[in-house]
Amino acid sequence: MFPRNCSSDTSATERDSESSGYPRVVGTYTRGLPGPHLLVTGGVHGNEPDGVHAVRQVIARLEERGTQLRGTLTGVAANRGGLARGARFITRDLNRRWLLDEMIQLLRRDPASDEGEDREQRELLHLLAPLLAAAREPLIFLDLHSTSGEGAPFACMADVIRNRKIAFALGVPVVLGLEEVIDGSMIGFFCDLGHVGVAVEGGKQGDPRTVDTHASAIWIALVAAGCLAAADVPDLVDHRRRLADMTRGLPRVIEIRHRHVVAEDDAFTMEPGYTNFQPVADHQVVAHDRHGPVRTPEAGLMMLPRYQSQGEDGYFLARPVSPFWLRVSAGLRRARADRLVRLLPGVERDPLRHDRMFVEADRPRAIDVFHLFGYRHQRAAGERFVFSRRRPDAIGVDDLPAVLRELLARDAARGG
Ligand SMILES: [Zn+2]
Repeated sequence: MFPRNCSSDTSATERDSESSGYPRVVGTYTRGLPGPHLLVTGGVHGNEPDGVHAVRQVIARLEERGTQLRGTLTGVAANRGGLARGARFITRDLNRRWLLDEMIQLLRRDPASDEGEDREQRELLHLLAPLLAAAREPLIFLDLHSTSGEGAPFACMADVIRNRKIAFALGVPVVLGLEEVIDGSMIGFFCDLGHVGVAVEGGKQGDPRTVDTHASAIWIALVAAGCLAAADVPDLVDHRRRLADMTRGLPRVIEIRHRHVVAEDDAFTMEPGYTNFQPVADHQVVAHDRHGPVRTPEAGLMMLPRYQSQGEDGYFLARPVSPFWLRVSAGLRRARADRLVRLLPGVERDPLRHDRMFVEADRPRAIDVFHLFGYRHQRAAGERFVFSRRRPDAIGVDDLPAVLRELLARDAARGG
């Protein structure tokens, strides 16, 4: 599936490309030297092909230069059906349902009945499973997106220390907590297995600068991951400058505070002119739907305003996080202080799952405290918040859960 040489993947994928326009693996580059595997996906949303073009461009450049890369760079076109039609998705958002229960359900069904994104996800799981099984160090997963509205690039990650090394190296604002409000994202799936998962929003869809931004992010990530030395990338300074110039004056780290969920029959329409990072006031009218004006629940920074018609995310609100607290949280986690949270007042451990805590919901600061200690805010359950411990660093990486591996093997045996 991944040719171990320094040429792009062509033979099997040329045939595929005739049907959809995009082969599943758009390219892979390795010189057979040991090192990390940087796995880049583009087009998880089919109307965002910019990331696919960027990883192709980077691989072509590496081939021209014959660069001595340590490890492997692989580029994947994620939603081939969506890409072929230029649609965000065909039947459902492919950047959801990467949760264990939902993947088991998918794999238990007959592949012949798959349509749209179910088929894409099944194929991606078959592609990823051998990589996850072979990984002796965390895979570095970079998921490239672009936005329907104008705005500066940024990165998203779950706040575990291993993700910070890659995300902060990019020099663009880093958004924490998107994976808390969006269940089952691909970066969340990788992170939960102990790998690195960072998403990059590269700018507006179809703007040629977005491909350049994504390419810069890939080059910088290759250096941050240790696949390349800075000297291996002759224009590294330009890549860094490009991302710095585009994000000058923006906060370096923000966290998501609110997600406006859109139902299919809501007739949601964003007010024109909103961009990422734009400050908005409390109670400001930012959109309309069939119930009337949509007002912000608090003041903050506008993120991902929806100027296309598909998906459940209307817009997000965020606020800056101080670098001081990021350093404090890194220290706490290095000291393994996360075990202490269960001693805090009002905290109760789930008797069935020791990595889960319940907290009385009348303690709104609890979310901040649990974030510091590396916990994920899952949801409010009645009167209580539910937090789960994110997979910490330095305890090795997990293979896919056995049940998924068995289902994938059964699938492969059936399909040949
Ligand atoms: Zn996207």
